[in-house]
Amino acid sequence: MKPTRVLVLNSGSSSVKYQLIDMADKSRAAAGIVERIGEGAVADHREALRIVARELDGQGLGLESAELAAVGHRVVHGGTAFTEPTLVTDEVLETIRGLVPLAPLHNPANIAGLEVARSLRPDLPQVAVFDTAFHATMPEYAARYAIHTAVADKYGVRRYGFHGTSHAYVSRATARLLGKDPSEVNSVVLHLGNGASASAVAGGRCVETSMGLTPLEGLVMGTRSGDLDAGIVFHLTRVAGMSTDAVDSLLNRRSGLLGLCGDNDMREIGRRMAAGDAAAQLAFDVYTHRLRKYIGAYFAVLAAETGGTVDAVAFTAGVGENSAAVRQAALQGLGALGIEVDAVRNAVRDDSARLISTDGSRVAVAVVPTDEELEIAQQAYALVSSA
Ligand code: ADP
Repeated sequence: MKPTRVLVLNSGSSSVKYQLIDMADKSRAAAGIVERIGEGAVADHREALRIVARELDGQGLGLESAELAAVGHRVVHGGTAFTEPTLVTDEVLETIRGLVPLAPLHNPANIAGLEVARSLRPDLPQVAVFDTAFHATMPEYAARYAIHTAVADKYGVRRYGFHGTSHAYVSRATARLLGKDPSEVNSVVLHLGNGASASAVAGGRCVETSMGLTPLEGLVMGTRSGDLDAGIVFHLTRVAGMSTDAVDSLLNRRSGLLGLCGDNDMREIGRRMAAGDAAAQLAFDVYTHRLRKYIGAYFAVLAAETGGTVDAVAFTAGVGENSAAVRQAALQGLGALGIEVDAVRNAVRDDSARLISTDGSRVAVAVVPTDEELEIAQQAYALVSSA
């Protein structure tokens, strides 16, 4: 019998998350996280992967000898080179290395994970699944910034988008929830975690997304500003005398909800709003106003791309799956777009994919738990099974 288990590795800058998924029944044989890489106890990614191997050994799942179909790796940036899950070779690894300037925080950790896993199990197919890949179908006019073409092309300055694995998974799960094939469904997917992004998906193909060259563009996030006037960067460097790194850190780490009110956790913001806190309320309002702008824009984009209408708006990730208040506020007053949220359904707490719109709502509103690990495992397994 051919092995059906896939080990999924998500190597971040300071942590490695892993799941061992059996594709025969999509069950998890093991899952865990090794944190604080580089802070002493766990020196580097090699050490972290050794710990993963030891944890799996402890559960009788011995990584060194385990029967695995493949290892699936999350890789953040695939640039324009990778638009599909890809079997990792020396050449592929070299190309991913070449993309480090586009994702200096993420790709080096992903590469470390790939290298260590390859050296631990050279016999296994290692498959890279890229966060940018799902967005590669965006039309050129959506992927381009309106800057000088020569500069853009020389430095790879274009809109790539991120969270693609989640948008792919959730758009398909939304179609399933509606009892339809993904090719028949047009949806707006809102991935609202600590990072947040929106996508417009036309019959299973992504036609727009809110993140761009980097994950900074688009929605208001936990600590990132999302969209802003690029002139702000010049203003802060010239007038406030901030360095490029200081502005980078301000916009990526001290902005968004955190910058607006001092908290980036939506639960805490909800508690403060209930107590009448004006700063928390304003942060919430800026966040949901931005969401509304994107929903409206993507309704227009989908209408133009398909000549049809939007079938569903889907919420996912930590905030999207759990905050009834955000869902309610973002869609409030959008009856003119055919969106009606059922307040009772929206308030129900449930871990499964579900509809929260009224029976009469022209557009279905869905809450769909994302599962990036399962999506990575599925894509990796499909690739090695077809080989
Ligand atoms: P990441 O982008 O780090 O994967 P998640 O998708 O796990 O993030 O989302 C994390 C965020 O989800 C938290 O910062 C918090 O704001 C939000 N969140 C989690 N649970 C709840 C909840 N019950 N109500 C509101 N927000 C929540």
